[in-house]
Amino acid sequence: MNTNCIFCKIANGEIPSSTLYEDDAFRVILDVSPATKGHALILPKQHIANIFEMDDSTAEKVFVLASRIAKAMKTALNCDGLNIVQNNGEVAGQTVFHFHLHIIPRYNEDGQHISWIPGTSEAEERESIATQIKALLN
Ligand code: 5GP
Ligand code: ZN
Repeated sequence: MNTNCIFCKIANGEIPSSTLYEDDAFRVILDVSPATKGHALILPKQHIANIFEMDDSTAEKVFVLASRIAKAMKTALNCDGLNIVQNNGEVAGQTVFHFHLHIIPRYNEDGQHISWIPGTSEAEERESIATQIKALLN
């Protein structure tokens, strides 16, 4: 636990939060400034700053949990869709530097815009990028 980290304090119960799920490794809370009704955050209890620091076992568990929460939200909140968002680094919009996965239920005409501006690319460039990354994955 990092004593200067607000999400360490929340995840470990030192600061109270609206908790919808807890186990020995995670706490899932409602975001204090929700994008939509039910916007939740999955927090590991261990201080992991971002995805670059996350081990495979935790990463697996995070997405299994996200899938379970999404289904519970669909039933409980009757949402029409759902976004999963996870920001890493200031440039990507991360403001709290303790890993968190946003689970954002979406409702028809909820007025939110979670999107990016589509760019352009050449086939040759895509192949080159894929090759560079592929070399590190096996
Ligand atoms: P980020 O921009 O880092 O991906 O998201 C940080 C999120 O944490 C924001 O959606 C923000 O509203 C939420 N947040 C920041 N401080 C607190 C807090 O003290 N309690 C809760 N429940 N959410 C917080
Ligand atoms: Zn932390």
